[in-house]
Amino acid sequence: MVPINQWIKIKAPATVANMVCGFDILGFAVNNPYDEMEMRLVSRTTDAAGNFNQASITIINIDNYNLPTDPEKNVAGAALLAMIEECTLVDFSKIGFEVKINKLIKPGSGVGSSAASSAGAVVGANYLLGNPFTKDDLVRFAMNGEKVASGVKHADNIAPCIHGGVTLVRSIFPLEIIALPSPTLFVTIVHPQIEVRTADARSILKQNVQLKDAIKQWGNIAGLVAGLMKGDYDLIGRSLEDVIIEPIRSILIPGFDDLKKACKAAGALGGGISGSGPSIFFLSKEKETALAVEQEMIKLYKGIGLAHHTYVTTINQTGVEIEC
Ligand code: ADP
Repeated sequence: MVPINQWIKIKAPATVANMVCGFDILGFAVNNPYDEMEMRLVSRTTDAAGNFNQASITIINIDNYNLPTDPEKNVAGAALLAMIEECTLVDFSKIGFEVKINKLIKPGSGVGSSAASSAGAVVGANYLLGNPFTKDDLVRFAMNGEKVASGVKHADNIAPCIHGGVTLVRSIFPLEIIALPSPTLFVTIVHPQIEVRTADARSILKQNVQLKDAIKQWGNIAGLVAGLMKGDYDLIGRSLEDVIIEPIRSILIPGFDDLKKACKAAGALGGGISGSGPSIFFLSKEKETALAVEQEMIKLYKGIGLAHHTYVTTINQTGVEIEC
C-alpha cells in the first residue's frame, strides 16, 4: 500500500469508442489528449460529536469545467464508490481517497472524457491499495461512472482506457474483454465545437435492424478484427464501414459526409464518428497521411465557419499510467 498522504500522478488517455462498425463493443485508446489526475489516501478522523471531518471520497476539480464534486455525481466518485463497496482490504471508516482532476479532455466531446476520469480513479485507487483488483474488476467499477454520465453501464471507452490498445467487449454481463493487437496506426481526430448529447445520439437510433444490414455489419466487424490481427491495412480500411448507426447519427454532425469523402481522398484507411460524436476520427497508415487528413478537416470546418479542434496522434498501448 502507498503510505497515507503520498500523492500519485495519473495519466488517463482519451478513447475512441465503436471504431465505426463495432457499436458498443470496439474501442481504442489514443496518446493525445489525456486527463491528468492526482490521488492520495487520507486518514479519516472524527470530531468530538463523532462526525467525520473527511469524506471517504473528496474530489477537487482543478480545471474550469465546473463538474460536480459530489462523489455520486462525478463519474470518478461513482467508480470509486463501487470499488469501496467490494473492497474488504481496508476500513473505509478510517481511510479515504482524495482525487484531483485536471480535465484536458473536454467533457461531451465524444472521446471518452467521462471514461478517463472513471478509469483513472479506479486504476489510481487500486495502485494506492497495493493492486488487489484485476483489470476486469477495475473495468466493472469504472462502468458505474459511465452510468452516471450517460445512464448506461457501457465499457467500450473504459476497456481501452484501462487496457490500452484496441479492445473488444465480447460480453458485458458477464464481462469479457479481449485485448486486440494492432499494427502501427496514426489517428486524426476533429472535435467540432457543437454539443451532441449522448442521450440524444442514442435515442434517435432504430431498435430493429434488417438482416441484410446485420450481415454486412458483422462481416465488417470480423474483417476489422482479422485486419488488426494480421496487420492487413487494406482489410482494416475495407472493414471500417457502418451501415447501421452512422447513416442515422451522422445527421447530427455538420459536414460529416463531405468530411468523410475528403479524408478518404487524402488517403485515410477509413474512419467515422467517435463514440456518439461530435468528434470524428480517421485512421491512416502513415503520419504524413494523418497530417494531410487533418488539413482536410481544418479546411472543411473553416469553410463552414465552425470552430473545431484537431489532434494527430497514435494508438496508446499502455492505458492509464501511474507516476509516483
Ligand atoms: P464523453 O464521451 O466525452 O465522455 P459523455 O457525454 O459520455 O462525454 O460524458 C460527459 C458527461 O459526464 C457530462 O454530462 C459531465 O457533466 C458528466 N461528468 C461527471 N463527472 C465527470 C468527469 N469527472 N469527467 C467528465 N465528465 C463528467
